[in-house]
Amino acid sequence: MTNQSNNIVFKDYNINQIMLLPPSLEELIEPDHPVRVVNEVIERINLEPLLAAYKPGGTSVYHPRMLLKVLVYGYLSNIFSSRKIEQALRENIHFMWLSAMNRPDHNTIARFRSERLKGVLRLIFGQIVELLMEEGVLSIKDIYTDGTRIEANANRYTFVWAKSIRTNKERIARQLDELWQYTQKVAEEELAEEDEVDFRQIDSKKVEQVVEKIDKALKGRKVPKKVREKLYRAKKHWPGKMAEYEQKEKILDGRRSYSKTDPDATFMGMKEDHYGNAQLKPAYNWQVSTTDQYIVNYTIHQSPGDTLMFKPHMENFEDLYGRYPEAVTADGAYGNQENYEYLEQHGIDNYVKYNNFHKEQQKKFRQDPFPTVNLYYNKEQDKVYCPMGQAMDRIADGERWSRSGYKQVYARYQARNCYGCPLRGPCHKGKGNRIVSINHHLQRYRKKARENLLSEQGIMHRKKRPADVEATFGIIKHNKGFRRFMLRGLEKVEIEAGLLAISHNLAKRAAA
Ligand code: SF4
Repeated sequence: MTNQSNNIVFKDYNINQIMLLPPSLEELIEPDHPVRVVNEVIERINLEPLLAAYKPGGTSVYHPRMLLKVLVYGYLSNIFSSRKIEQALRENIHFMWLSAMNRPDHNTIARFRSERLKGVLRLIFGQIVELLMEEGVLSIKDIYTDGTRIEANANRYTFVWAKSIRTNKERIARQLDELWQYTQKVAEEELAEEDEVDFRQIDSKKVEQVVEKIDKALKGRKVPKKVREKLYRAKKHWPGKMAEYEQKEKILDGRRSYSKTDPDATFMGMKEDHYGNAQLKPAYNWQVSTTDQYIVNYTIHQSPGDTLMFKPHMENFEDLYGRYPEAVTADGAYGNQENYEYLEQHGIDNYVKYNNFHKEQQKKFRQDPFPTVNLYYNKEQDKVYCPMGQAMDRIADGERWSRSGYKQVYARYQARNCYGCPLRGPCHKGKGNRIVSINHHLQRYRKKARENLLSEQGIMHRKKRPADVEATFGIIKHNKGFRRFMLRGLEKVEIEAGLLAISHNLAKRAAA
């Protein structure tokens, strides 16, 4: 016989049980929970820049420190929508503790995020990085820089292309030119006093004036139906269309495209979709510098390339911390003369690759005598020596301008006589004697970068770069699932990028 009872024993469960001492929320938060890190760090920062935006008087408002903590913790726990944060403030014990049971609604949260944090969040981010530095958690001496594209909160099919605007403007100018020439032929006296019109430099005002003159000159004349119809279209549509194109060009501001539903977003090639297709989507270019996977600098840009974003990104770093980093490691997308010069001017160690860096390390390439970079250059003589040992003379200098307005100078060297040379086939395909262009400044910068990258320190930085900055993108885009901004417009997207960066850093700090 066993003593086992046949009764099932349940633990006590009484939802209406009255407690002698009601539990405080504080007791219910685990000691090392990330919400405590958010609370502790944001409690320590100086909120003066944020408070400056508040005006005295009026009804009481929710404390910005509480709202900031709630937003940062929202981004940390992958709750990005203001409505979901509002819900969490009623249901989630961590949010309730953080807000001290305050319950701002989603409008208050959304307004605080998109209006109050404008222009000040990057300063708060800088303060947090400095706090982490003081704690010895990170250092901003050696940084790893890269960029990633994040989809904008815009409709994918509402694009405006600079190229089609240009084509439409040219079409109007061409048709107007034809009308003008026709009018000059049939109404010579009426237009005799008029100046020549340059139809390559024409704007909406000029279109209006020219159409008016043509209309006046042809008034009462019998003109072919085709011309009459064209003039009707010109009067009715062209000045308005030209004004519309000008307005769109203003929004484009040198970009190739923008989205109608978020004019600050540019269409960029995004990584492949599930079916293996590359896609053009409205997006922003998020430039980030990290150290040990902590984000120490971020900037948002409207152009897809990384090269031109480097200088403004570094200037933002200097603006935040009052100094430049000691060393920067970045991939080949950043390695151009302008950026190398910038690094040298600011005394920053350069571990930035250039586009042929890896190819140049291959034995096959190094042993190939024909590429321009492998030709011997004698500085004293200012001559290049071709694979046959023939001196190539400097025949001219050329200039190239980058999109940022930076000038690069190229020296052109020409072989004296390639006729009958047995190496002609592999050496060059052009007619006449071989000509090579060499940018001596760029070569010098590349040589320095190559020495740095191949040094022991350089190899360490190159190994660390993908595990640092690229892994950070991986955490944010894949682990957190943040692939599309919630807000529209450059300023608001910058705020979201800042919230992402702060929450990422605090999550890392909590896990350390
Ligand atoms: S083809 Fe001209 S440049 Fe090339 S190796 Fe011969 S001589 Fe030199």
